[in-house]
Amino acid sequence: MGRPFTLVETATGAPGPGEVLVRVDLATVCGSDLHTVSGRRPSPEPSVLGHEQVGTVVAVGEGDARCVDGAPVVQGMRVVWSVTASCGDCDRCARGFPQKCRRLRKYGHEPLDDTAPLTGGFATHCVLLPGTAIVAVPGGVPDAVAAPASCATATVTAVIAAAGPLEGRRVLVTGAGMLGVTAVAMASAAGAHVVVVDPDPARREQALRFGAAEIGDRTPADVDVALELSGKPVAVDACLRSLAVGGTAVLAGSVSPGEPVALDPERVVRGLHTVVGVHNYRPVDLQDAVRFLAAHHRTHPFAELVAGRFGLGEVDAAFEAARTEGAMRQAVVPA
Ligand SMILES: [Zn+2]
Ligand SMILES: [Zn+2]
Repeated sequence: MGRPFTLVETATGAPGPGEVLVRVDLATVCGSDLHTVSGRRPSPEPSVLGHEQVGTVVAVGEGDARCVDGAPVVQGMRVVWSVTASCGDCDRCARGFPQKCRRLRKYGHEPLDDTAPLTGGFATHCVLLPGTAIVAVPGGVPDAVAAPASCATATVTAVIAAAGPLEGRRVLVTGAGMLGVTAVAMASAAGAHVVVVDPDPARREQALRFGAAEIGDRTPADVDVALELSGKPVAVDACLRSLAVGGTAVLAGSVSPGEPVALDPERVVRGLHTVVGVHNYRPVDLQDAVRFLAAHHRTHPFAELVAGRFGLGEVDAAFEAARTEGAMRQAVVPA
């Protein structure tokens, strides 16, 4: 943490059994990459960061590598892949929580290993391990739109799935960042009346272009569903307070240590409330994320959320821009 990125050269062999070698076409800087560099997210050093990216399959190892939809993974296919690689047979994988696998490996989050160095998006290539969810990206979806699917979009897909049916519901979204505007787009497409709360007026305005029906800096009362994507304790508190009878709060923004939030158990009991946590996602969520982006990127300005076009030697500048500039994502183009 706190030290600059350095370029490391490494030899790329043929992918091993079950592995897929991918050339990274474009990677975006996610908020958790920033947390890793700032030390708010513990991570091995040195490491290849980056876990939101789109790439092209260069070689497929021995075996029967398949996309989430069952299609074979073939050379030349443009793909996105999951943040996690899971074993598929531990108790957590068996219970449907592959993102919490006992033998979990995470892209952009592994120690740099000379024998298997290609584990992150800020590199020319990445080796996809067995147990990685791979999804083909339809032609026509720009790289800058597809890359965030691997983290932001798929996480929001999981959030929406956890929220239950949204048609005709009053939905609060707290935090109009990358996850927030994506949630606005998905919830409004599902027929919800979406209210967005964010302290930043520019972000609130932008949320209107993703389908928000109301924007403000104060939390409304009596919402059916509250989606917390900011990670701010005050917003978590606001979500819990805003729920109508039978309401559901889905918390997904709180991914680094923060202040605890008081919970009024009587309100939860009498209000028949449900509070759900969502972290990362399942393979089907990545599939649904790509499907959503392909269907909606022409009507919603997803491409405008990504700025920059930094080379691999400029990752420090990309991170600085991600920290200081208005755009929600900065792009690194390794080639
Ligand atoms: Zn497992
Ligand atoms: Zn991320």
